[in-house]
Amino acid sequence: MKFFSAVISICLVMTLAACSDPGDQQSPSTNASTSDDDQRIAGVKAEINRLADGYDYDAAIKLAKDDASDELNSMARGLEEEKEQTTPWEHPEKIPHLFFHSLIVDTDRAFDQDSRSGGYEDYMVTQKEFSQILQELYKRDYVLVNPEDFAALNKQKKMEYRKIMLPKGKKPLVLSVDDLSYYEYMDGDGFASRLVLDDHGKVRNEYVDAAGKKQLGAFDVTTMVDDFVGEHPDFTYRDARGLVAMTGYNGEFGYRTSPSQYPKNKNLAKDQKDATAIAEAMKNTGWVFASHSWGHLNTGSVSMARLQSDTKLWKEEVEPIVGPTDQYIYPFGADIAQTNTYSGARYEYLKSQGFDYFYGVDGTTESWMQQVGGYQRQMRINIDGLQFAKEKAGDRPVLANFFDVDKVIDPARKALDRSKKSTKP
Ligand SMILES: [Zn+2]
Repeated sequence: MKFFSAVISICLVMTLAACSDPGDQQSPSTNASTSDDDQRIAGVKAEINRLADGYDYDAAIKLAKDDASDELNSMARGLEEEKEQTTPWEHPEKIPHLFFHSLIVDTDRAFDQDSRSGGYEDYMVTQKEFSQILQELYKRDYVLVNPEDFAALNKQKKMEYRKIMLPKGKKPLVLSVDDLSYYEYMDGDGFASRLVLDDHGKVRNEYVDAAGKKQLGAFDVTTMVDDFVGEHPDFTYRDARGLVAMTGYNGEFGYRTSPSQYPKNKNLAKDQKDATAIAEAMKNTGWVFASHSWGHLNTGSVSMARLQSDTKLWKEEVEPIVGPTDQYIYPFGADIAQTNTYSGARYEYLKSQGFDYFYGVDGTTESWMQQVGGYQRQMRINIDGLQFAKEKAGDRPVLANFFDVDKVIDPARKALDRSKKSTKP
């Protein structure tokens, strides 16, 4: 229901045909004499179809039933039938999670043999690769879900799995993107430079090409996923998008919003305001923010004093922008425990700071989750050059069910001379 008013208003200015479900063969034709009510009904119908495409049948049925129009009321029955075709996902404790860093847009600049090129090849994927990966995931019937779709705390503050209701054959998948900060070190290396809101309030990337020309568009993970879902509404479960892990030391989304780090930033207040508006728009779209610590800490091994001061700084500088969160994504995948369950001071502290969901990295297993007491824990598969190389070497491959590495890999990777050392972002 989040999009209801926005969609209606957008639909009113679009042609009816473009606004209706692409799969709907009975699309009403455009007609100069179309009345305001017909336009309104077409707008609501499009929203009902969008909700149903995203498996939110209850919301779609309610919208159809509550409307004054008989035409919309009559949609409810078909929607009830569609809803009956869904079943709970049979393995709530086996949901895979893929994660990415910001995308390389211009491989010539990223792989220009400077000291950062090796790191980019190891830890990033290119825009071309990501576009292929999205199409492959969609073709293989994956559907994006968010943490609260599969697990939540009950009244006794105990974590429980939730039922994900999907049509037969569809499979849930969690996606995340780390460090969406457009760090200073990436400047000029062929990445997007920041996120911005366009004239319609939609989140876009600003990208400066090699010739210095500024472009607005989808040049990174979140904007590309948003566009893909726009074209394929059945790729998301009830508007889920994924997680976005944020640090604080270089600010947020390309805005240097950290007062402790940028005390001389004359635009500090405006940067904070702009970044907050972007976070708000992303949350409304279905993105969930996670703490990635303020200073990209090794959470598993830093001193407790450092962990506490860093968490305090995240809450002072990042939380006002992205909002409070119960999600914690370990930087470097540095978890606070091995496969054993959580206990002890470090866990108690993170839990006391409001974190209930924790994410590590394990690129050798398709899905790994642990639910004990008041926490949910999930391992993520790193999708990057290292994983591609591991996969191609046949070393504990995990990607076959998601996509074919040979099919998605960017030939530009071959051009890079890897005799030079890489630095981890
Ligand atoms: Zn990170």
